[in-house]
Amino acid sequence: MVRYVYDFTEGGREMAGLLGGKGSNLAEMTRLGLPVPPGFVITTDACRAFLTTGGEPAGMSREVSDHLKAVEKAAGRRLGQRDDPLLLSVRSGARFSMPGMMETILDIGLNDDSVLGLAKVSGSERFAWDSYRRLVQMFGSTVMGVDARLFERAMADLKDRRGARDDVHLDAGDLAGLVETYKTVIRRETGQDFPQSPAEQLRRAILAVFESWNGERARLYRRREHIPDDLGTAVSVQRMVFGNLGPDSGSGVAFTRDPATGRPGLYGDYLPNAQGEDVVAGIRNTVPLGELERLDPESYARLRAHMETLERHYRDLCDIEFTIERGTLWMLQTRVGKRTAEAAFALAAALADEGLITPDEGLARVSGDGLARLMFPRFDTSEHGDPLAHGLPASPGAAVGAAVFHSAEAVRRAAAGEKVVLVRQETNPDDLPGMIAAQAVLTSRGGKTSHAAVVARGMGKVCVCGAEELTVDTEARRFTAPDGTVVEEGTVISVDGSAGAVYPGSVPLADSAVMRFLETGGTDEGAAWVVDSVARALARADTVRRLEVRANADTPEDAARARRFGAQGIGLCRTEHMFLGERRKLVEEMILADSDVERERALAALLPLQRRDFAAILEAMDGLPVTIRLLDPPLHEFLPDRTDLAVRIAAAEARGDLPAAHDAELLTAVNRMHEENPMLGLRGVRLGLVVPGLVAMQVRAIGEAVAERLRAGGAPRAEIMVPLVGDVRELRIVRDEVRRVLAEVSEESGLLVDCPVGTMIELPRAALTAGRIAEEAEFFSFGTNDLTQTTWGFSRDDVEAEFFSAYLDKGVFPVSPFETIDRDGVGRLVTIAVAEGRAARPDLKIGVCGEHGGDPESVHFFHSAGLDYVSCSPFRVPVARLEAGRAAL
Ligand code: PEP
Ligand code: MG
Repeated sequence: MVRYVYDFTEGGREMAGLLGGKGSNLAEMTRLGLPVPPGFVITTDACRAFLTTGGEPAGMSREVSDHLKAVEKAAGRRLGQRDDPLLLSVRSGARFSMPGMMETILDIGLNDDSVLGLAKVSGSERFAWDSYRRLVQMFGSTVMGVDARLFERAMADLKDRRGARDDVHLDAGDLAGLVETYKTVIRRETGQDFPQSPAEQLRRAILAVFESWNGERARLYRRREHIPDDLGTAVSVQRMVFGNLGPDSGSGVAFTRDPATGRPGLYGDYLPNAQGEDVVAGIRNTVPLGELERLDPESYARLRAHMETLERHYRDLCDIEFTIERGTLWMLQTRVGKRTAEAAFALAAALADEGLITPDEGLARVSGDGLARLMFPRFDTSEHGDPLAHGLPASPGAAVGAAVFHSAEAVRRAAAGEKVVLVRQETNPDDLPGMIAAQAVLTSRGGKTSHAAVVARGMGKVCVCGAEELTVDTEARRFTAPDGTVVEEGTVISVDGSAGAVYPGSVPLADSAVMRFLETGGTDEGAAWVVDSVARALARADTVRRLEVRANADTPEDAARARRFGAQGIGLCRTEHMFLGERRKLVEEMILADSDVERERALAALLPLQRRDFAAILEAMDGLPVTIRLLDPPLHEFLPDRTDLAVRIAAAEARGDLPAAHDAELLTAVNRMHEENPMLGLRGVRLGLVVPGLVAMQVRAIGEAVAERLRAGGAPRAEIMVPLVGDVRELRIVRDEVRRVLAEVSEESGLLVDCPVGTMIELPRAALTAGRIAEEAEFFSFGTNDLTQTTWGFSRDDVEAEFFSAYLDKGVFPVSPFETIDRDGVGRLVTIAVAEGRAARPDLKIGVCGEHGGDPESVHFFHSAGLDYVSCSPFRVPVARLEAGRAAL
């Protein structure tokens, strides 16, 4: 029989898939003997069953009531008991944290009777009525679907009538009246009454949490974070404890170390006389955790001890939520805390030094994405004036954009290509689309654990929060700085999430310390903390990885940079890229030549340029392999646009001029060469087969460059790669030509000029006939850009702009297959080609040089597929090194 409910005493953190992150960690803390209010978890299985059938899974409600009885027994009172009600919280908790994206309902068990009992036992009527109004409000909006703004409006009206600035200034009578108003709102909006039965409240609250898994903001968040849609959420049901029972109560959030930098020391926010929700919502400003030591030294000492227990047990930075109820400390949540990229590297190094984790565990805890983030530039404020305001450095990095004050506006402007900064007093989950669209988020309220901070950190988005000096007026769409500067919507500002500062205008960017270190090996004092930890992670990765990392580079400068970044060679030198810009004409002439003489002239002009380029690249990569790909221009990339030409000629004629003779000739030639699908047309190896002399010229340039380097005492290791091969016979023809020309060059130079000849595998047919191709190829390199294009039939130049957003929305794939390798389709072709290629030629060297070679997730795939190397753009080389190491763990 499937079981749907587990008591906290029955679970543990290893059950996160079933009990969700929150539930399994509550169970773990219970197991560790920490003070956790008793409760139970309803499993993700139950949620999935509910979401597929639309009904409560059989047996679930009986299990819930059995577990409820146990909680009631431990508490010595019943849910909603008239004279002394047990109250419950009902919270979502998926396997992966989705902060604020799903629903929570507190104070379940209150009704018109038990509110009076609560008033009596708590000794505070105001507290009891405030709890009841919170329940009616939360239940009304989340479970019964009433627009939350109607409750907010009722509250605001009441405050106006009472002249109260804050809800703290409303008394018990006011709040009791508000409960009645809320109930009327619910009746009017839904035609139903707020349920008085505590059991019904509980049942409906649980189902509402299940349903919130498919809420719009939860879906959006999952897509952004690549969390699968079919996991479902667990639901934790737990005895309520109250942080709002007076000055000896309160709630807080804390980290065992600083989540922004990874530096040691307790760190967090505390809000006396408040519920946990008030802290996270940033509604009132919190005090630093250290203040609790003064307010309640005993609870503080206990909290510290529990946090130490947790950090040692989890062997990682933990974040926790706690509540103090009349001097008694309760732990309400813990999890391995989200952290910035900088903190992740620093923690991995520090925890390894402390002996809590091994260096390999440290490597597993950092990521290529994090490293890429640390390589981003930061602001150079040396020439810029003072900041407009300071706030908390909640999520590091530098961003410039136009200030906008509403999520929808951020989305609208970003879609039109504008860079924006979302400015709010505080954010809530409804702001998520705007946060995704913005370069940075700036808030005037809330601590480093506020919604804005937590969500931005998770996304790697720049964030400054709690910039209290700013007066943010979202209605009027402007904010005012302390010096009186008014920033209207659309004005450009710069947000420094590392320093916690906001500047007017656009501040210039400076290199990051990590980038400087990677490029030069040097660092300055201030950055040593993070630079050293990055260096250690990379060194570890280099020790354990099996995959080699090469770079895609077409110039000596890129080659040299890639080498500094740790590239072990060039995996793809796209020769046609050497002919962009001014030299494009030469390729154009070669393609368009309509006589042998013209073609030979064009090829002869290309030869010395190519030789010079190759010699310089071979020099920059001396001793390391350099894979040079023969010319692969899809023709349209090199020919003038047909329409442009026609327009130019027509314009000349309209002016009564004779069109330039060259233009007319060009148009005839372009018309002759025109292809409807140039990416599937005369390109790659096909060019070599139909343009006489083309392969010979290129091979000669390569061979002569090798000879030149040999004469200069170098160790050139050129490899010649043939693109877009679909059949072994194509490769054989070209390879014979290559061998012939290299023999000629050897003969002429008196030096042994030999280069391995291999092929790209970038067509499904090549992958499916890899065994035969390997008989003629000394190496394979997967061109996964074209292989993705031809496997899916997606035009790589068009689809991302055209319809991928609809595909992502509809969940066809969670991320573009041009970004992360499609394991099931393209990946399968790779696996087949590796197996058949190696079967035919056991020493076949295999790499990948499509964009996927620098994508963290894809690197893991290439590792497991048994490739020898990945090749990516120079800036991705450190990322690929790190991920190749992580893949090998
Ligand atoms: C590829 O197709 O993956 C590749 C590396 O070649 P290009 O991107 O130049 O077509
Ligand atoms: Mg290609």
